[in-house]
Amino acid sequence: MKSQMLLLRFGEFTVKGKNRNRFDKTVIDHVKSLLKPYPRAKILKEYGRLYIDLNGEPADELIAILKNVFGIVSISPVIQTAPELQNIIDCALEFMSEKNIKDGTTFKVNARRVWKEFPHSSQEMNHLLGSPILRNFPGLKVDVRKPDIELRVEIRQHAAYIFCEVIQAVGGFPRGTNGKAMLLLSGGIDSPVAGWSSMRRGLEIECVHFFSFPYTSQRAKDKVIDLARVLAGYAGEIKIHLVPFTEVQTSFTQVGQDNLIITLMRRAMLRIATQLAEREGALALVTGDSLGQVASQTLPSMNVIGRATDLPLLRPLVMMDKEEIIRLAQQIGTYELSILPYEDCCTLFVPKSPTTNPNLRIVEKVEASIHELNNMIAEAVAKTETMVLRAGEAVSLSGDQVINEEWF
Ligand code: ATP
Ligand code: MG
Repeated sequence: MKSQMLLLRFGEFTVKGKNRNRFDKTVIDHVKSLLKPYPRAKILKEYGRLYIDLNGEPADELIAILKNVFGIVSISPVIQTAPELQNIIDCALEFMSEKNIKDGTTFKVNARRVWKEFPHSSQEMNHLLGSPILRNFPGLKVDVRKPDIELRVEIRQHAAYIFCEVIQAVGGFPRGTNGKAMLLLSGGIDSPVAGWSSMRRGLEIECVHFFSFPYTSQRAKDKVIDLARVLAGYAGEIKIHLVPFTEVQTSFTQVGQDNLIITLMRRAMLRIATQLAEREGALALVTGDSLGQVASQTLPSMNVIGRATDLPLLRPLVMMDKEEIIRLAQQIGTYELSILPYEDCCTLFVPKSPTTNPNLRIVEKVEASIHELNNMIAEAVAKTETMVLRAGEAVSLSGDQVINEEWF
């Protein structure tokens, strides 16, 4: 008669008219793929929400996994029973008996009659449930404002649901429902978070990483592949394009404008990423820039760098503080990898005083003076290697491995 379920509530995308079915289906497919290792769990769909009938599968484990599904805003463990008064009372009593009730614990009943043919109104149900609960648990007190336990009861046509917890989930849009973008993924803390934030808004992401053999090591590259693998855990699968950047990068060291090197490098990265985006059908670029964080992320720098591409340049972290970014990195599981001490191509050749206020005309002149720059860029695109990473693949590096290694 009664069963243990999880109630999954959908987010804001439910208002998006004709896309609704596609969005619903994407969430359901995502949930289905995550439930594969739990074959007894069954998915039931209802307007604006999903129910997972646990059938004995572990609620805590499933909640921890399903909290990360884009498009789900909250999860509640619920008991489902037939929509009849006595049934509901019995279930509510049993539900309360599993709670840790002490002398003075406060509660209230919050009943909602969604099925209007149920013979008792929401208000009546609050009393019809409240009285037997108070009789059975003498330590309990009613507090309608800020109760320790809010017993919620939803009465629908085919079932009644009893629950008290509402666990927050990631929300956003179902994965891949808002188009595709190219993420510039470095080995740092910021860009993986920018990637996750974009995926949370429903973007499908492909990653581009620039490396400079022999100045950067194989390990530095592996670290970035591992970071992309963590992102694949959220996306199902993810592509990473690995761009050999040595030639382009070293050409900038020979123009005698050391303070512009970072600006020139960033513009070249955007050009290459744009060509890859066009090839792969991506309609935007995403970076981990955060306003003011370093010289290349001042407003004048962003302005000159951003002009190297015609594509929309999305910077999900632009207004966030480093602490917030770090907190997110920890939450999504990229932080530990990001802080592994491998070199990035941008930390090489870093001038003593990179400009915070580059001049677009000068930058364009320098670029025009570099013979073959466009060819070098085209060649970097042509020599780019692409890998497909899938959710569940093991990450190859760990913090322990690094401790005994010596670097440069
Ligand atoms: P992150 O932590 O993401 O590396 P950061 O604070 O170190 O960011 P920068 O090194 O200035 O900032 O890089 C700014 C952005 O440029 C990065 O967030 C990333 O999107 C992009 N980027 C930098 N280096 C690379 C690289 N080697 N490959 C791909 N993208 C890069
Ligand atoms: Mg970096």
